[in-house]
Amino acid sequence: MRELSIEQDWQGDSVDMTSRCPKCRSIYVEARNLAQRLGGAIGAIAGTTSGVAVALSGAELGLIAGPFGALLGAVAGVVIEGIVGGAAGCLAGAKLGSAIDRNVLHNHLCRACGHTFTDKSS
Ligand SMILES: [Zn+2]
Repeated sequence: MRELSIEQDWQGDSVDMTSRCPKCRSIYVEARNLAQRLGGAIGAIAGTTSGVAVALSGAELGLIAGPFGALLGAVAGVVIEGIVGGAAGCLAGAKLGSAIDRNVLHNHLCRACGHTFTDKSS
């Protein structure tokens, strides 16, 4: 499943603590994960928005079942779809951002000398 591979990736990020600075060989290196955080935030917003849109279109269908059913269905649908969509979007965005971090950005910061570098091992 997709969720499992995402979690494995996140666990793999903790391995960054064992990376060494290529400049001064310090082990005090931290992963910045800028794109991962940004991607997660954007994904959560996009996922929530699309989830709510899906729920609202479902509420329109619910009008056939009567006004009360539509109201109930809309409230429950917006809450549930919004949460589910937001969580899924957050994971997808974080996953994408994580890939950008690793491949594009200088994702690692040496706390000893301030040098930023890309982790070549991944
Ligand atoms: Zn360093």
